[in-house]
Amino acid sequence: MEQLRTDYCVVGAGFAGLTATRRLQERGQSVTLLEARDRVGGRVWNRQAQDGTIASVGGTWLGKRQDRMFELCREYGMDVYPQYDTGDTIMHLDGSNRRYQGLPAVGLFSLVSLGLAFWQLDRIVKRMPLNEPWNVSGAHDLDSQTLGAFIASRWNIPTGTARKLITTTMTTLFCVDPNEVSLLGSCVLARGGGKFEYYVDSTNTETHLVDGGVPELATRMAAKIGSALRYSSPVRRIKQSAAGVEVICDGVTVEARRAIVATPPLLASRIEYDPMLPPVHAQLLRRLLSGAAIRGITIYDEPFWRGEGLSGMTVAPELPVPVALDQSPRSLNVGIISSYMFGPQAVKAATMDPAERRDVWLQALAKRYGPKALTPRAHLETDWAAEEWSLGGMIAHFAPGVLTNYGPALYQPAGRIHFAGSEHAPEMHGLMEGAVRSGEKAAEDVISAG
Ligand SMILES: Cc1cc2nc3c(=O)[nH]c(=O)nc-3n(C[C@H](O)[C@H](O)[C@H](O)COP(=O)(O)OP(=O)(O)OC[C@H]3O[C@@H](n4cnc5c(N)ncnc54)[C@H](O)[C@@H]3O)c2cc1C
Repeated sequence: MEQLRTDYCVVGAGFAGLTATRRLQERGQSVTLLEARDRVGGRVWNRQAQDGTIASVGGTWLGKRQDRMFELCREYGMDVYPQYDTGDTIMHLDGSNRRYQGLPAVGLFSLVSLGLAFWQLDRIVKRMPLNEPWNVSGAHDLDSQTLGAFIASRWNIPTGTARKLITTTMTTLFCVDPNEVSLLGSCVLARGGGKFEYYVDSTNTETHLVDGGVPELATRMAAKIGSALRYSSPVRRIKQSAAGVEVICDGVTVEARRAIVATPPLLASRIEYDPMLPPVHAQLLRRLLSGAAIRGITIYDEPFWRGEGLSGMTVAPELPVPVALDQSPRSLNVGIISSYMFGPQAVKAATMDPAERRDVWLQALAKRYGPKALTPRAHLETDWAAEEWSLGGMIAHFAPGVLTNYGPALYQPAGRIHFAGSEHAPEMHGLMEGAVRSGEKAAEDVISAG
């Protein structure tokens, strides 16, 4: 077993772990960064489709308030370009397509219902203290209700169409049935971006794409980190004593003053801690689960929808692939539609024969983009729940009771073990920006803790 001794040890080379390591190195500290996979990026990943096209299949878009991500792109020489949003959005509802720009193409009463629902949710969000959302007044009551129950109530959302649209939106955000999500917990995500509107409006969250894909930024950061980064090094055990930590992975043991665990919470809970983590940390990490998401990248010779006056954004609450949008490269050498299956739909689809699933997928796209959608030059699917070192989609969610009972452990270290990652970011929670900010904060915290 190889033995290393550095000031600090970081576990996981997603954006949180990469930025924590980079910040520690900038501060003149020695670091070892241990990554389980043979690549960096974690939930961001560039994959090659059958036709040779490389596309980003995880975290992809930059949006408003992703200031650190834009700065990092500049610093590492990555160009960004605006998301194509000229033309109509399509909503496929009740079996037919409705084209619109601006407000969704639903009746006035449904529009008012949608507005009212988000107004009610944002009233909770506004009251939440950013760093301790579990202390909002009425927290226990809000945490004992599910987001699903809130949506199902006709008092909260009077029309069936509005309920259907909000269910799709929330399933998209949390990658699970909203009945699995605490009402209070759902508001933590919204609080991080200011209000729900931030996350549900693509003109906030999806303003720019990165030329070459955002995973290339992670690769460039890794290159600069250099030999401090160890690939294929899954951490199995962390021992801590009054003097420091010992981080044990396959083939390497790292002795350090402190460790930063920058993995999705469930994966952090699978590491063996000696002594065991304080109960509140152990219970929290075991309960922060990520739902299922399958991402489809469908590649055409050209973005044919643009010629038909469409932006490429489509919403189809009743179809197995409810959300799709334009992810074409800046060069336009091909046209790409990025689309998703989420939650229960993704779980069901995961057991399908691949050819059958591809067919279901393309049929769902053709219902809104027309028959041209049936004949892509390539189609690539990534099942994030089946990824051993992610175990789920975009973000872990809070089930009822979790935040009020174990929430404080989210932002607290457990002795010499600190936690970073998108889920541990009060602001821009769930996004790449949140991961970066949490990594930078964890680096500052370990330095000041000594
Ligand atoms: C399909 C999808 C679409 C998304 N779209 C967007 C988007 O458009 N915009 C946006 O801002 N965000 C998006 N996100 C969210 C964003 O990608 C994540 O919030 C962010 O990348 C998380 O970074 P992280 O460093 O916290 O965790 P991760 O990226 O999960 O990194 C954790 C790392 O830890 C490693 N690891 C795990 N266990 C161990 C272990 N025991 N030992 C060593 N290493 C370990 C993993 O391999 C991984 O590399 C999306 C995510 C997905 C999945």
